[in-house]
Amino acid sequence: MNQQPAHNRISYSQISLFQKCPLSYRFRYIEKRPSKPSPHLSFGTTIHRVLSRFYNEYDGQFPNFSLLESLLDKNWVSEGYTSLEEELQWKKNALIALRNFYKNTDLSKKLPLEFEEWFEIPFPDFTLVGKIDRVDRTNNGRLHVIDYKTSGKLQSYDQVKKDLQLAIYYFACRYKYKEDPEKVSLYFLTQDEIVSAELTEVEIQEAVNNILETYQHISRAIDENSFNANVSKLCNYCDYLEFCPAANRTTQVQSLALELPDTFEERFRQYLEKLISIEEDFERLKIERENIERELIAEMERNGEKKVKFEDFIVELVEGTRYSTNESQLIETLKKHSLFESVVNINIRALQAILKNESIPEYVREEIQGQIQVNEVVKKIRVTRIAEQ
Ligand code: SF4
Repeated sequence: MNQQPAHNRISYSQISLFQKCPLSYRFRYIEKRPSKPSPHLSFGTTIHRVLSRFYNEYDGQFPNFSLLESLLDKNWVSEGYTSLEEELQWKKNALIALRNFYKNTDLSKKLPLEFEEWFEIPFPDFTLVGKIDRVDRTNNGRLHVIDYKTSGKLQSYDQVKKDLQLAIYYFACRYKYKEDPEKVSLYFLTQDEIVSAELTEVEIQEAVNNILETYQHISRAIDENSFNANVSKLCNYCDYLEFCPAANRTTQVQSLALELPDTFEERFRQYLEKLISIEEDFERLKIERENIERELIAEMERNGEKKVKFEDFIVELVEGTRYSTNESQLIETLKKHSLFESVVNINIRALQAILKNESIPEYVREEIQGQIQVNEVVKKIRVTRIAEQ
């Protein structure tokens, strides 16, 4: 039985989270706050489950793609999607990922040496634990470590060489099989790309030193109950942003940009300047968005594309239609067939204009006014440049 305290079993996820932000490590691993459900998380869990069960069910017969489809249905994790539409889009992405996997996997060959297997490597003060997605034997009879990626950008060869998780898996294979892998790979399933690298002894030693050093930092943080917050733009993706005091304080200060001055006039100026600059940015971004959209449409048309899969995105050329009508005749036709009311929406602004229009008889305005109820008074700010009034 393992006698070490819980934090003495360290995984790559723990190391990586502590390196990103020690405070988020405390939230997850000390306070045991759950991570927020999200499409990326559910999608990743689903694909990993499907691929591991696929190999479990593989009985030596060449399997049909329908096996993957039915495993996808059975193992789909439905948490974290904000709408059915969003979920269906992710399901389409899952099918793309599985098709890529099916196309690239030679199932007439031997099964992987292992898939989704746990390892434990004892170090003097702790045990390094983890699970490797897949280990194959190459044609040369050497080990090949594969980690499935279901989100994030494609990585370069240099990034794969520096990937701490892959180095840990390499080290785990050395410990378990007493032999060094020929190569390690990240398999980007939705992008259909495999990026592989051979690791050198220097790179493995650097990774081990990194693990030892991070373990020392984690131990010290736990002993002293002191976990620094690393506030950065990555906070926007943190599961604990909502209740993180450090990030919220910074966000508030950033949103007001500065400390508030003492006088009403100065405070007013500060708020107003911020509001105007947001409005200007908004207008500029709207124009920028339209220009970029136009460029994208032109690019896609030049290439004869209607749908482009690019990294984590699918860009589609969607055709909308603008109409013009002969309004008076159309109204007559709709009225004749008793359909006018189904296309008319009450426009409160137009109504307000009628109520202000003195050429409309008083009794008509009163009758209209009598049918409008005020449900709620909403306070808003309207800013108009004096020259525009
Ligand atoms: S919100 Fe930012 S500072 Fe707070 S725990 Fe998360 S990453 Fe750390």
